[in-house]
Amino acid sequence: MLVVKKFGGSSVANAERVMNVARIVTDTYREGHDVVVVVSAQGDTTDDLIEKAKEINPKGSKREMDMLLAAGEQISIALLAMAIENMGFPVISLLGWQAGFQTNSTYSSARIKRVNPERIRAALDKRKIVVVAGFQGLNRYEDVTTLGRGGSDTSAVAIAAAMHADLCQIYTDVEGVYTADPRKVPDARKLQEITYDEMLELATLGAQVLNNRSVEMAKKYGVELEVLSSMKAVPGTKVKEVAKMEEMLIKGVAKDTNVARVMIVGLPDEPGIAFKIFSRVAKAHINVDIILQSVGRDGTKDITFTVPQDKGDEAVAALQEYCDMVGAKSLSYDTSVAKVSVVGAGMETHEGTASLMFEALAAANVNIQMISTSEIKVSVLIAAEDADRAVSAVHKAFFEA
Ligand code: ASP
Ligand code: MG
Repeated sequence: MLVVKKFGGSSVANAERVMNVARIVTDTYREGHDVVVVVSAQGDTTDDLIEKAKEINPKGSKREMDMLLAAGEQISIALLAMAIENMGFPVISLLGWQAGFQTNSTYSSARIKRVNPERIRAALDKRKIVVVAGFQGLNRYEDVTTLGRGGSDTSAVAIAAAMHADLCQIYTDVEGVYTADPRKVPDARKLQEITYDEMLELATLGAQVLNNRSVEMAKKYGVELEVLSSMKAVPGTKVKEVAKMEEMLIKGVAKDTNVARVMIVGLPDEPGIAFKIFSRVAKAHINVDIILQSVGRDGTKDITFTVPQDKGDEAVAALQEYCDMVGAKSLSYDTSVAKVSVVGAGMETHEGTASLMFEALAAANVNIQMISTSEIKVSVLIAAEDADRAVSAVHKAFFEA
């Protein structure tokens, strides 16, 4: 069996943790499996490197930032390889480019174009454990690139896809995917299985266990993922195409505070307005999430929508001129909001998910500002200060019945 194992920064934060990872890896190797290990930079290394750069040049070019940040993973692979050597096992560490990662040239958030795994394959054929630097690759100018924060998950899935691995295990500091953030909701339960689609909703909704690009890629190439703890040897959560229902209507309650709400009051109530608004927002490369348009009254209507928190001012800037031109009454944004969502493939075939959620919010005296739904999720926009209370109340309604 070929297994790809990925360890995040906290799992390799110090010498003791690195040796712990070496034990996990060599245990699997000893069972006769081929093992490729992908690691992130130790602990807060990436953040520390960003700070160092700011001290010298706060506007350093993205190319040089990538050159700098890629160093974090280089340290981890060498240290882990040395730990494995020390245990008497054959091992080789490889940087992203040595492992065959070819990317486009979008420095600091490069996309993987292909992985050419020849060198990994050759090393595995010699029964070596292969340790690969996550988060990095090489573009066609032979410059080092990085994949964006949290990109090592994607590196691991890309290798698993390119090599048709039997399993891709993502080791982290939690035991798996939970029905809510276990640090905030003590009753949160660990899920045995979850579908790619559910995981994607939870990843983008701020559950922060897996990088969402890695889940997209796993779904596209059918890579079976397992999220598990590097500290405790217990089964984690499997992420796959079809999951056991576990008789659960929903799989989780997620909170996302990275939201801003943009409000335009008093737009003319005529055809083409929404198009003109959202084409300007799209041109500014701003992702829109929930959209609400009021019913027209007295010849005017209002449009409200949400964007990532740091894009609120850019959205307003992109719309100011147009809103002035058509005589809108006001244009503003507000960042004191949060999105709380319930996610689960089960709701496709069960009615009543939304009403149960709204009932729980009403009982907790939480006011809903906006609502959006898809086949597998219901999201509400509420005041940021209510978010944790709302998550607890909704979680209780679905999981303590
Ligand atoms: N070290 C990089 C980061 O901190 C990549 C990763 O951790 O996946 O974002
Ligand atoms: Mg990291």
